[in-house]
Amino acid sequence: MSDPRPNILYIMSDDHTVNAISCYNGWLKEVVDTPNIDRIANEGMRFDNCICNNALCSPSRASIITGQYSHKNGVLRLNQPLSDDHPNFVRQLQASGYQTGIAGKWHLGSEPDGFDYWEVLPGQGAYFDPSFTRNGEPTQYEGYATDIITDLSLNWLKARDPDKPFLMLCHHKAPHGLWEYAPRHADLFTDGDVPEPSNLYKPFDKVSSALENHHRTMLSQAERMDEGVRGREWPTGRLDTTGMSTQEKIQAAYQKYVKDYLRCITAIDEGVGRLLDYLDEEGLTENTIVVYTSDQGMFLGEHSYFDKRLILEESLLMPYVMRYPKVIAPGSVNEDIVVNVDFGATYLDFAGLQPDAQVQGRSFRALCEGDTPEDWRQSAFYAYWDGPTKHYGVRTQNYTLAVHRTGERDLFDLEKDPWEMTSVYGDPAYADVQAEVEADLARLIEEIDISAEELPQE
Ligand code: CA
Repeated sequence: MSDPRPNILYIMSDDHTVNAISCYNGWLKEVVDTPNIDRIANEGMRFDNCICNNALCSPSRASIITGQYSHKNGVLRLNQPLSDDHPNFVRQLQASGYQTGIAGKWHLGSEPDGFDYWEVLPGQGAYFDPSFTRNGEPTQYEGYATDIITDLSLNWLKARDPDKPFLMLCHHKAPHGLWEYAPRHADLFTDGDVPEPSNLYKPFDKVSSALENHHRTMLSQAERMDEGVRGREWPTGRLDTTGMSTQEKIQAAYQKYVKDYLRCITAIDEGVGRLLDYLDEEGLTENTIVVYTSDQGMFLGEHSYFDKRLILEESLLMPYVMRYPKVIAPGSVNEDIVVNVDFGATYLDFAGLQPDAQVQGRSFRALCEGDTPEDWRQSAFYAYWDGPTKHYGVRTQNYTLAVHRTGERDLFDLEKDPWEMTSVYGDPAYADVQAEVEADLARLIEEIDISAEELPQE
């Protein structure tokens, strides 16, 4: 008797912003084309307020696996190990009869726990001819990482036991820096310039110095591209900035960066298409939950930044599209706030399981069914600990409040100022809003149980 519970195909890339997915209709929509990721949204649901609680690779991954915020699961910074003592939705699905697999980027300083099959890159891994560790043994393949990770996922699906439901995590390395694209995509975006964000050269109008002094600027990127990285040549070709003005350097670095980045995404989208085709061919589409997401967002020149880490929209928002024909109405859009700690609880819910009592996330199955509970959250807590830009804060439906380690604060009105150019913190016109958002942050700090000592600080 085969198990009727849904299969779950979870595809996650690394640093893929909503602005580089066509169905999100962001400011790059003239050039971005991701037909296969769009297909998941068109046949399922697009989530417009999916929030990462700590916008960095390892912490986001740990929060997804455990359903806990960083201060609870112990992965606050890059490469920290995830202890097996924490809840783990994969382990729970495995124990309940799911066959479980992961291929690609893991990026936690510990071995994957709860997987029948795991074949993961060491740390960041390589774009070309990558090495992996497969259930503890070294492997290596010739070719391009995105294609290989798709192949490994398909190979495992083909070899599975068809009488048991599966959970497959296909975790791409791309489009993480240094943005090495497949040779077959070298000619994409060569016909002229990609549009620039409106705040490429003027990062802010008025914000705290803590925010203004974020170190990941396009100008610093231009210098890195010009000088090479750690003594090596820039992998996709060095940028010669000799004789350029500051503005010209920013412009040139932006064009090179965004084009390399978008080429990486084309290979991911092709891989998504191959996985969707496989489900169709095998008659698995109806009973398989398909997710496409990324561990957090990415700046593509907005505020003259690249990279992530900040509570600002480009970095904070995760793309999240999900298809499950039995439950989700095609072409639907959800604007409720969901957080990466909710993912595991949701998949367990669809599999008829309750999350561990230590899980802090909440299933958003009802949202998938088009029915938002009355008491659904109206705001999300955020905290970032890795390096000089330590800060925490809250993102509500209409406002973002950032509290920096310097004690400075920024408050953004997302409706009137969607590009977050001007902090209204201290503006008398926002006195009531400011008090409400501050109170909401205090409430969240209590709710997620983080002490003053645990909050990001000096
Ligand atoms: Ca990442």
